[in-house]
Amino acid sequence: MNEYDSEVATGLLEAAGFKVVGPLTQPSPPGGEGKGEGDADVILMNTCSVREHAEERVFSRLGMLGKIKRTNPDLIVGLMGCMVEEHKEKLFQRFPQLDLMVGTRNVKELPALIEEVARTRKQVARIRQDGISIEYTDLIHRRGKFHAWLPIMTGCDKVCTFCIVPITRGAEVSMPAREVFREASRLVGEGVKCITLLGQNVNSYNGRDVAGSVAGASSWAPPPGVDPPIRTDSRASRHAVLFPELLEMLCRIEGLERISFTTSHPSDATEELFQVIARNPKISRRFHLPLQSGSDRILKRMKRLHTYEDYKKKIGRLRELVPDISITTDIIAGFSGETEEDYQATRKALEEIRYDGAYIFKYSVRAGTPAANLPDDVPQEVKGRRNCELLDLQREISLEKNQGFLGSTVRVFVEDKSAKKENELLGRTPHEKKVVFSGSRNLIGSFRQVILLDIKNETFLGEIAPSPFPLPQRGRGWG
Ligand code: SAH
Repeated sequence: MNEYDSEVATGLLEAAGFKVVGPLTQPSPPGGEGKGEGDADVILMNTCSVREHAEERVFSRLGMLGKIKRTNPDLIVGLMGCMVEEHKEKLFQRFPQLDLMVGTRNVKELPALIEEVARTRKQVARIRQDGISIEYTDLIHRRGKFHAWLPIMTGCDKVCTFCIVPITRGAEVSMPAREVFREASRLVGEGVKCITLLGQNVNSYNGRDVAGSVAGASSWAPPPGVDPPIRTDSRASRHAVLFPELLEMLCRIEGLERISFTTSHPSDATEELFQVIARNPKISRRFHLPLQSGSDRILKRMKRLHTYEDYKKKIGRLRELVPDISITTDIIAGFSGETEEDYQATRKALEEIRYDGAYIFKYSVRAGTPAANLPDDVPQEVKGRRNCELLDLQREISLEKNQGFLGSTVRVFVEDKSAKKENELLGRTPHEKKVVFSGSRNLIGSFRQVILLDIKNETFLGEIAPSPFPLPQRGRGWG
């Protein structure tokens, strides 16, 4: 979601006449020329507050920018994203070098707010709490030509005790299905072939109350041959489109070749969703479903709304319907109250489910969450050890899973040239795994059959498969 917001901010700033020189990670080396933070007039950081570590990095960057500002007092330093929602104006006191704070629902106002700071030299904050933080705009500056992020909902109505998202992003709000469909069609019209649907709880999407509630919607008609993406719920005489139905509607857009989505919550991972994935090859063969812990006691403490057994049953059913699905997850190591036995249950879950990949994080207390009232009682070194051991275990499993793909030929979307070598291309398999292979740059944006030959650091090395219909060689055959 943050990447999408950054693309929107970049597009809006460019349209307002700013020259965007980032993203930047390093200040200019002393005596170096251009392109560093020290050379910009405005530095904006888009922030995340899910884990403490991400926040600490922003705080230390702010400290560094304070020093740069001493030599360049005209520099404007701004923050966007979840940290703004979490800390609000309080950050102005702690960081007097901070000039601007823009809430997740106010990105559109960014150019005007920067002008305001430049004009008044006062600290300016715009943090609105109502409305929706999704801004569909054709001014967006997309990094990829063929791939687009498409947020469809924001916020979260779940009550996971460790999680700050309900505080920073508020309650769930879904974009009307009609708007999503229109935006996806527009993107495809611009040449996009792969779309990733985004949401804090993407699969609890509920595009209710569509008709009449969208400015301009009445003038919109679906392309020929496509049913309008709206179903009337006769009982309540209102319109509702749930996630599986939205996916299926989007699959009907001609020219849209792949649809991925993230992040799903297990409670909303339904039979209907699995059926839709099974019958639509356009939908990614990777399903990301955070488990968090393999211990029922901890899952209950986290208020995850599922037991390990419920979760495992869902995965079993999904694998039954889509045998080649690749499943990934998120795990938290060392949550409040986690005993050695609970930790062993998580290890067992990784071994039983055999994920293709997992993001594993050490638990960090987030102020304002329900778990902030529970003791953070797993000592740092124990958390660290469990985290490392889980990572090691998962690395082994991921490697074995990836080795299982070797020798197979898969349909790869050619995304870009490879960052490392000339004449090498970077593609994505139907399971969203990276593969590099030799080929001409004019293949970028197309699909190719690629044989997976080797694996190095989670990236496959491949080769374009010979065409099953070889062209006749010159001078032979074909009269
Ligand atoms: N909607 C997702 C959560 C997205 S946040 C869900 O329902 O699971 C991304 C991941 O960050 C989470 O899955 C969790 O594993 C991790 N995370 C969230 N809060 C955390 C915390 N306080 N400490 C450590 N990891 C956390």
